[in-house]
Amino acid sequence: MLYMTYIREHAELLQHSADRKGIAVSIRELLKLDASRRSLLQEVEGLRAERNRQSEAIAALVKSQRAPSGATVRNAGERDAKLGDVALPGEAPGAVAYEALVGEAKGKVREANAKLAALEARLTEVSAAWRSLLELVPNPVSADTPDGRSDADNVELRRVGEIPAFAFEPLDHVRLGERLGLLDLGRGVKLGGTRSYVLKGIGSRLHRAVQQLALDVLERRGFTQLELPAMMRGETFANTGFFPTGKDQTYALAEGDKYLIGTSEVGLVSYYAGETVALEEPIRLAAATPCFRSEVGSAGRDVHGLYRVHQFAKVEQVALCRGEASDAMLEEITANAEEILRLLELPYRVVAVCIGDMSQKSHKQYDIETWMPSRGAYGETHSSSNVLDFQARRAGIRYRDADGTLRYAHTLNNTAVATPRILIPLLENHQREDGSVCVPAALRPYLGGVAEIRTD
Ligand code: AMP
Repeated sequence: MLYMTYIREHAELLQHSADRKGIAVSIRELLKLDASRRSLLQEVEGLRAERNRQSEAIAALVKSQRAPSGATVRNAGERDAKLGDVALPGEAPGAVAYEALVGEAKGKVREANAKLAALEARLTEVSAAWRSLLELVPNPVSADTPDGRSDADNVELRRVGEIPAFAFEPLDHVRLGERLGLLDLGRGVKLGGTRSYVLKGIGSRLHRAVQQLALDVLERRGFTQLELPAMMRGETFANTGFFPTGKDQTYALAEGDKYLIGTSEVGLVSYYAGETVALEEPIRLAAATPCFRSEVGSAGRDVHGLYRVHQFAKVEQVALCRGEASDAMLEEITANAEEILRLLELPYRVVAVCIGDMSQKSHKQYDIETWMPSRGAYGETHSSSNVLDFQARRAGIRYRDADGTLRYAHTLNNTAVATPRILIPLLENHQREDGSVCVPAALRPYLGGVAEIRTD
């Protein structure tokens, strides 16, 4: 979420960002609502002050009518009758003047209350509309973000590793997995419906092995692991910019304000919601969790095999840092993911994601795409984003900078590994002519030393 002053000063840039990111929000409309909201607030405050003045006047009159003995205003008439109805300077008013003054002040209070009721109702309405537009405003993108409308406009930055040249007809991961008895799509669909799968035996162990390898790499690189809930409250999704945009990707639980997470980023960032954190050193957090996605809008896309499923597992890295550290941190978390791919001996490329392929919160994003022989192309396996203070402002995560000023933290996230998608390149790139699959050396210790996967 952005500051209104920033939005006022960068209206055009933000409208461009929203249009390109495919977010239906009119910045002009937001600014109009903001102006009405502010003028309504002023009016309401003015009326509240007027009402308070009148209430105080009534209280003062009541006090002035108290008998010296401490008798209350109910006795004032008697006393006034004796004194006469005209108050001397510095004296309490007589009964008639008193009734008139109190009556007048009460009338003003009633009038202010009536106006306030109408204005407050209007203010609630305008504020709700203002808030719902404000929540849609996207983060502006970095100056070096490629312009473009879809992933076809992403710009390749580097390629790492050799694409295998097979001297035989390679199989895709589904044929390989089923032949090796490690994947059962048929029974997966029987159990969980479309986009479901079962990993079996060494398949299930591979799924866990890649996660543990990724966690160990992150541990060595200073990340603290958290074991997190897979169901979280709506607020955590709003904090991290997954609500309101993206709500349709989320499974809501039948009871209460709980949703299944689509990524542990929701919890890793919200963990510090509402807190002031020490950021002399960045905070590096990691979690391995199941992830659930409805994949609405993906009907008919990637329906074959393990590429796009409703439930998968992801080891996620999240960093919180000072504003000036976030550019370097984006490179750091990207390098962590690259190290994991190097250990898995997989060829990949890094692309600069264009504005049209970015989500609302992203300021700068790299995707890592790993070579998938069955696609004859690189397929996205990792996504690395700097969202600046977009999430921290929603979540209220602050730190004190060197001069003690409170600032919102910058947050970043990247996949360390997502499985079973990573099993596609892992099985396909390491397959051999005899139908076996070679296990990369770094993964073997996580599989009890298994060096190859074969049928017998
Ligand atoms: P994201 O959190 O959307 O940036 O996605 C991070 C990574 O999670 C992707 O690069 C994929 O490797 C994986 N992923 C995302 N959605 C799915 C899905 N529906 N099925 C399988 N893997 C997914």
